[in-house]
Formats: sequence, structure tokens, C-alpha cells
Amino acid sequence: MNTKMKVSISILIAASVVALTGCGDKKEAASPTPTPTTAGTTQPTSSPNGGGQVSATPTSQATNTPAASIKPGASPSGKPAATPTPAGTKGDAVQVVANPASVTVLVNKQNALPSSYEPNDLVYPNVPFTFNEKIEKRKMRQVAATAIEKLFAGAEKDGIHLAGVSAYRSYATQKSVFERYVSMDGEEKAKTYSAVPGTSEHETGLAIDVTGSNGKCAAEDCFGGTKEAVWLEKHAYEYGFIIRYPKGKEAITGYQYEPWHIRYVGNDIAKEIQTKNVTLEEYFRTVPVAK
Ligand SMILES: [Zn+2]
Repeated sequence: MNTKMKVSISILIAASVVALTGCGDKKEAASPTPTPTTAGTTQPTSSPNGGGQVSATPTSQATNTPAASIKPGASPSGKPAATPTPAGTKGDAVQVVANPASVTVLVNKQNALPSSYEPNDLVYPNVPFTFNEKIEKRKMRQVAATAIEKLFAGAEKDGIHLAGVSAYRSYATQKSVFERYVSMDGEEKAKTYSAVPGTSEHETGLAIDVTGSNGKCAAEDCFGGTKEAVWLEKHAYEYGFIIRYPKGKEAITGYQYEPWHIRYVGNDIAKEIQTKNVTLEEYFRTVPVAK
């Protein structure tokens, strides 16, 4: 085999690598026709999948980011200094959160983690994943890892067998994923299905995508309605987790319904969010939080 052949074979292999799953990195990107057709930033928010845009969402000033140096409703010129890329889409300024290490940190398309942030207490939770390797996406912050172990154990007792799909993702990983999409589709389009670095909740180390132990429908829409999904809807809060992107709240969270993506926020907030049927965004808008 000559060098040319080798090169073209490796190109083929590289091209067939499928995009990461997980929230903010829709696998649609790997399919011939990406589903998020609502790419336009000026679209109304009626798109079923959230379209990746939350321009109609009231600014999330009442967040738990008391120390935010950027004023709520800051003009697009109030661009975060620490992050190179998240300049925000039109009318969608991105702020850098002041409390990245807080268990209650609000990370979304308007509120990004600093590019330098890396949780200092990442561990491997002792729960099954859909893969065996001890790699980055298996990690969670200590408090969330302990909680997820309890959640999995609780599920087992109810005959529900769960497996982790993807948990922590570093800023660097998110950056390389996002940049790959940008090179494929351009920045505007990439933003509709992939999280801008700093804005993926997986970067907190407090979020995890879970599925049934058979690994079917991992981080896919068909997970909705499964007995595992139903169990999570009912019981995740008992362990301090919330379904972060609930059905019907797309315009608020900026993400389509993701029954597999759970986020650790602590028992008190999880319980309140469950009881009131609100999102983390709504929770912080209505409840002054001093923590
Ligand atoms: Zn996720």
C-alpha cells in the first residue's frame, strides 16, 4: 500500500467518526440532514426543539450570580472578557458566571463558565456507564458523584437499571467539538445544535446523561417515555437532581426536551423545582438565592 492510499484511508476513517452525543452536541450533526431546521437566529421560539435560540427569553439577570461584574441586560458590548468565542448571537449577550464552582451555578446559552474553569474535585462515580474506559466523560464532581451513586442504587431497588452515557466535559473538549462543527457548518448553524464552549452544562461536572442499562436510546429522543425516563422524572429530585431540560420549557431553557440529562443542584432546590414544576432559570428568577 502506498502512502497516498494510506492517507486516503485515514481520511475516510476520520470522516466517519461520529459526533459526540450529549446535550448541546446533537448527533443530528452527524446525519445528512441536521434536524434543527430552525437555525435562523430570528426565528420565533415556537420551534419544538428549541431551535437552540432563546432570544425571546427574558434576560436571566436574576440568576444566582450575585458577583457578576456584567450588569443584567448588559449590551452585547458587555462581552465577557474571559471567553474568546461566546460573543453571543444577536441580542443574546453571554455573561461569564461569577460562581462557576457553586453547586447551584446556572449555565446556559447566556451564562457561560470561564474558559479557565476546571472543577478541582472530579472523581469517577461508582456506577455503570455504557462504556468501560476511565475517561473524562465518566467523571463528576464529588458531591454529584456521591448523589448519582445513591440515585442508581435507588433505581435498582425499583427494578430500574441505569447506565451513565456522558458526564463531565472539559472546556477544551467542548471547544474542539464546537470548532469542528463550525468548520463543517459555519458558526451560526453550529450554534443551533452545539453548545458554545463554556455554555455546556456538562462542563460543570454536575450533569450527566443517563440511559437504561441496555444502552438503547442513549441521549436520544426515544429515551423519552421509557421506564427509566419515567423513573427519573419521578425520583431524580429525591437525590438532588433535576431534569434540566423539561418538556414544554424549550423557550426558557433553550434546549429541546432531554429526558436523559440530569443536573445535580442539591436536595432543597431539586425538591422545590420538582414541586413547582419549574426550570432552573425560572427558579433563579423568582427566588433570591444567597448561597
Ligand atoms: Zn447532557
